[in-house]
Amino acid sequence: MRFCIHRGAKEIGGNCVEIESQGKRLVLDIGLPLDAELEDTPLPSIKGLAEADPSLLGIVISHPHQDHYGLAHKVRAEVPILIGPAAQRILEVASIFTPGGISFQNIIPLQDRAPIAIGPFTITPYLMDHSAYDSYAVLVEAEGNRLFYSGDFRAHGRKGKLFRKLLRDPPKGVDVLLMEGTNLGREDAQAIQSEDDLEKEFIRHFKAAKGLVLVYASGQNIDRLVTIFRACLRTGKQFIVDMYTAAVLEATGNANIPQHGFKNLRVYLPSRQKWKIIETRSFDLAKRHRSCRIFPEELADEALRSVMLFRPSMRGELAKAKCLADATLIYSLWRGYLDRQDGQRLQEWLMQQGIILVQCHTSGHAAVKELKKLGDAMSPKDTIVIHTAVPVLAAEQFGCSTPGSTEWVQVPKYRRVRAWARQSRNIGKRDSG
Ligand SMILES: [Zn+2]
Repeated sequence: MRFCIHRGAKEIGGNCVEIESQGKRLVLDIGLPLDAELEDTPLPSIKGLAEADPSLLGIVISHPHQDHYGLAHKVRAEVPILIGPAAQRILEVASIFTPGGISFQNIIPLQDRAPIAIGPFTITPYLMDHSAYDSYAVLVEAEGNRLFYSGDFRAHGRKGKLFRKLLRDPPKGVDVLLMEGTNLGREDAQAIQSEDDLEKEFIRHFKAAKGLVLVYASGQNIDRLVTIFRACLRTGKQFIVDMYTAAVLEATGNANIPQHGFKNLRVYLPSRQKWKIIETRSFDLAKRHRSCRIFPEELADEALRSVMLFRPSMRGELAKAKCLADATLIYSLWRGYLDRQDGQRLQEWLMQQGIILVQCHTSGHAAVKELKKLGDAMSPKDTIVIHTAVPVLAAEQFGCSTPGSTEWVQVPKYRRVRAWARQSRNIGKRDSG
């Protein structure tokens, strides 16, 4: 078995790893690099993505973040996609509202710790704690060798027990660990808050609010939506989500996740999303959520008892609804986005409207100490940190340099080297004898 990290080795996002055994191949993630445009980004040079090639057996999509699946838009529809069932449904429903969503044709569902045999490979998915719902790490076995690909993960989310379970019971005999390292070298990585810590912060902000609370968070960050909903319950607020988010919540298929039918949850249909529903004729979706809808003309009266999920495209209609007096906006995304052009424009608008801006966010990725714990628990022969902006630091801390983007690495590298060393020692002995 050998592998090649085509993308995402020395950057955060755009992951794509090809694995080969006995002439058959698998791909782990087909990400669109962060900040890249789909039209301008070619597929990695892997046979079978764009043209038919039976040696490509499938693509594993570890989780529904664009930097892990975004280039799937350019892949032939016939290629089997191995993905979590809820992740697949989320991307499917997202395709109604955003070009980032996608509908797959040929699906092999991943299930926690249920091995899948495909050609010479056995793939065992491990459900992980991450800011994307239904995220997996995968163990890939072939020819008696084992590679563990962590995908993206953390330990401080609402599913932290999944990480602790993996530490208690990791796969044995792993030759190569390909592990994400997003938080390596980030100054704030040492003081990562948990979702429970954030819940307390949201409660504090909700209590202090003198008007409508807007929260700018991702509609696909289910952990965060649960955190906000729980804070709403504890402060007697209703949570208003847009229809796209309501559809994503429903797509989780998990009755414990707040969704349509939950008391205190209302659904708002922003005009941009209304057009998407008309364009795609998704009237059933709108009909399903009709009973908990809240309309623009109700927003001003309901402002003080409401927390509303915010999208920048809603600015005009919210101002028109006159619901923004004494409003607060809680920014619940990576703060770096605020320095970009869109973020600057948002801040200008908030100033004009007299809206207070506060930040409340935590990373979707593991703290460095958790990365070390995973490395220690698995004790692989070789650890390569990917999904990092600082590969030099990764090599320093985990002892393994990152291969180049066209470099094929044999698994297990070290066993071969040891065998070779033994052989050369024996030759030496023979010679001297
Ligand atoms: Zn991710």
